[in-house]
Amino acid sequence: MAIQSPEGTFDLLPDEAEFWARFKATAAEVFGRYGYVTIETPIVERTELFVRGIGEATDVVSKEMFTAISGENLKRLTDGGSVKSSSRLSLRPEGTAGVVRAVVQHDLVPQGAAPAKLMYAGQMFRAERPQKGRQRQFNQVGIECLGAEAPSVDAEGIIMLMRFFEAVGIPVSATRLLVNSMGCEECRPAYREAVRAYMAEHETQLCEECLRRADINPLRAFDCKNERCRAVMDSAPKITDHLCDSCRDHYEAVKAYLDAAGLTYIEDHKLVRGLDYYTRTVFEVQVTEGMGSQNAIGGGGRYDKLAQEVGGRATPGFGFALGFERCVLALRAAGVEFPRAGTCDLFVACAGDEARPQAFALVQAVRDAGRAAEQDHQARSLKSQFKLANKLGARYVITLGSDELVTGTAVLRNMETHEETPVDLADVSAIVAALE
Ligand code: AMP
Repeated sequence: MAIQSPEGTFDLLPDEAEFWARFKATAAEVFGRYGYVTIETPIVERTELFVRGIGEATDVVSKEMFTAISGENLKRLTDGGSVKSSSRLSLRPEGTAGVVRAVVQHDLVPQGAAPAKLMYAGQMFRAERPQKGRQRQFNQVGIECLGAEAPSVDAEGIIMLMRFFEAVGIPVSATRLLVNSMGCEECRPAYREAVRAYMAEHETQLCEECLRRADINPLRAFDCKNERCRAVMDSAPKITDHLCDSCRDHYEAVKAYLDAAGLTYIEDHKLVRGLDYYTRTVFEVQVTEGMGSQNAIGGGGRYDKLAQEVGGRATPGFGFALGFERCVLALRAAGVEFPRAGTCDLFVACAGDEARPQAFALVQAVRDAGRAAEQDHQARSLKSQFKLANKLGARYVITLGSDELVTGTAVLRNMETHEETPVDLADVSAIVAALE
């Protein structure tokens, strides 16, 4: 059997790749209005960045990271040796840690400076069990705003994400926006204890995985897919009843901004998200129909301690990421037609081989004049050249045969209206102008 792509990875075939390019362009356009500029960080980072930034006990770091290793280091390991910790590399499972690392490394937010508003787009890698909407390599678009802790940053980011979904064809009415606050290092420890105590009271009803994690991070139980655990955690203490005054004020202000913008949201006290770095605001956008369990198309939140975790000075941050492939599934479920990759303004067909050199020259000249042109390269019959022109979506066709070579004129056929216009083959600019 021919070699297949690795498990959980997919090719973006031309129509989808074209959509990915447009998706990124739309993101740059929408986010640009909010002051975001592009940053590109490496796909591979030192493993310790993710361990310190995302958290050692998270699923993403403890189970799902792909290690990248050079041939030399692999040999060292198989020979029983070890590799320096700075040589331990992982493929990025998400974009935030790398962007925050770059902000700290290049001092992009000097003290007192305006916030850095950064956006990125690219592949992420997680060794998850593949299923529909859950891949091992997937594409995300994301933003990070570093240097401001005002709730207006969070609200602006959430509104911007919803505007982006609208712009790519996912209406707000097809989504549900969940929000919550995770509190901060002042109020979360006591809350965590309250959840742990609640779980201990209900330990006979919880799954082993939840009980095992109860000590390290009891809040993970809110994410458990087990129905019994979900029912138990529905009545668990709510973080919003345990927030300190400043976290409560921050959360109330975020919601007030969202209310003022007319955005509908659901407060979900079970929304904790899988990464350790979140403080205060967390949110997720889900598609309401046709997506099964992998219905989250984007999410994020505030991470005011992350810059310090990776060795920088205290720099508050807020960000989100959205999954391209999940958006494609959402659009497909909604029956949206995808744009076709490639364009063809003019197809030059040949009635007989003698016209080929002239067809070749005309196609080159039209391309040089900035238009997409194509011809047959497989000695097809005239009939199948017309079929090809149709398949390519050619807007116009010129057919060259012995008559056209003699007279130096041909007919330009508009494939939509079937209108025919005589053209002078020597006057390429007139032909190009007629393609408008
Ligand atoms: P997360 O960092 O897990 O919040 O991911 C942000 C977004 O990326 C999610 O809402 C999904 O749309 C997408 N995403 C996360 N993990 C995967 C995956 N394994 N496969 C496809 N998309 C994913």
